[in-house]
Amino acid sequence: MWERYAKIIERIEVGEGILSLVPQWVKEKGFTRPLVVADENTYKAAGAEVSALLEQVGIRHDRFIYRGEHILTADETAIGALCAAYQPENDLILGAGSGTINDLCKFVGYRVNRPCAIVGTAPSMDGYSAKGAAMTVGGMKITPQTQCPSAIFCDINILKNAPMPMLAAGLGDMLGKLNALADWKLSHLLTGEPMPEDIAGIMSAAVQKCRDSAADAARRDAMAIRHITEGLILSGIAMSLYGDSRPASGAEHHLAHYWEMRAAAEGREPVSHGLKVGVATIYALRLWKSLPDLPLRPKPEDRAGILEHVKRAYGAAADALIPVLNPNLPFEFILNHWDEILKIARETANPEDVTGLLKLFDAPTDAQSVEVNDGLLRESIVLARERKKTYTILQLFGDLGLLEICNVYKEEL
Ligand SMILES: [Zn+2]
Repeated sequence: MWERYAKIIERIEVGEGILSLVPQWVKEKGFTRPLVVADENTYKAAGAEVSALLEQVGIRHDRFIYRGEHILTADETAIGALCAAYQPENDLILGAGSGTINDLCKFVGYRVNRPCAIVGTAPSMDGYSAKGAAMTVGGMKITPQTQCPSAIFCDINILKNAPMPMLAAGLGDMLGKLNALADWKLSHLLTGEPMPEDIAGIMSAAVQKCRDSAADAARRDAMAIRHITEGLILSGIAMSLYGDSRPASGAEHHLAHYWEMRAAAEGREPVSHGLKVGVATIYALRLWKSLPDLPLRPKPEDRAGILEHVKRAYGAAADALIPVLNPNLPFEFILNHWDEILKIARETANPEDVTGLLKLFDAPTDAQSVEVNDGLLRESIVLARERKKTYTILQLFGDLGLLEICNVYKEEL
C-alpha cells in the first residue's frame, strides 16, 4: 500500500518482526556511517537491536543516546546536544523512538543536510511521516517544514508493547482528525479553502479504521495497533500531499498547542501531545454540537480587546502573530450558510463517543487531567485560534461573537 507514496517517503515498512529490513535498506542506499539516535527508553525498545543488526552486517555507525530523568523536549538544548554528537562523516541520522526523537532527527538532519530515517517505538503521534518537525524554540511551539524521513520502519511487535499512555496518545491524535475534518469542511464552505477529495478521503478512511480498532488496540491486539500506526503515518502523508497540516489538524490542535506552549513557558513537564489532542477534541466537538442551540444575532467581536489579550498571552511572540490574526467573516454571510454549517455539525462525531474510546485506555478526558485549569481552558478557547490563519470551529464562534461567553466547555453542559 505504501509504494504509491514513494515520492514522499521512499520506504515504509509496517509489520511484525521487520527490523532486519533496516540494515538491508541502509546497505542498499549505500550509507556508510549512520548516527543512531535514541533516548534511554527507546534505545532499550529498539535502538540497541538496530545497532546490533547494523553491526552484524558490518555497517560502522555511531550512537547518541539522550540521558536523564526529564521528558525529552525538542528544544534548543536537545538540538544542541544532537548537533554536538553529529560528525560530518555521519551520512544518515537514524532515529529509534517516536515523536520527539523523530522531530529532532528531522530537524537536525535538515540543518546539516543529511537524510534521516526512523525506527518507531510507539504509535503515539502522527509526525512519523510529516515534513514538519514539532519544536519548542524560545518557549513557542513551532512546526518548521524540514524533511520527511527517507524511511520509516514500524515493527508492530515493538509498538504494541509501548506504554499504555503512548498508545492512548496515538489514538487521541487520530481521533482529533474527527474534528479536523469538520473544521476543514467548514473552511471549504466559508473561505473556499481547497479540500481535495482524495486527501480528505485518505484521512476519513484512516480515522474510521482507528475508531473501529480502538477497543482491540486497548488490549494490544497487533492488527489494531497496526491500523493506528498506519493511520498516523497516512496523516503525515496527507499533510505532505496537501502542503499544510490542515488534513490532520484543526481547532483541537490549536488548543493542544496553546496548552503545550503555556506549559513550556511555565517550565512544566509536557503532557504527551496526543493525550492533549484527545481531550481538546472533546471540547471542540462540544462546540460543534452546541451550534443548533446558539442565539444567532450580530454581535461584533471585540478584536481590539483580543489583540490586547494576545499581547499579554504571547509576550514577545505576539508581534509575529498579530499579522496573521484571522479577520472576522460578516454575520450575514455566515447566516446565509447556516443550514450547511448545521449539516457538517450533524455529521460530525459526538464528543461522548470520543470520551468513551479514550476511557478504554484510561486516558484523560477532561482539561484538568492534562494540567489545564479552568482559566487556561477559557483563555485557550478565545486565543488558541490566533496562532495560525486556519478557519476552524473556534473562528466561527469568534465570528459570531460568542467565544467569550460560550461555556460549552463546562463539564456540566
Ligand atoms: Zn498531532
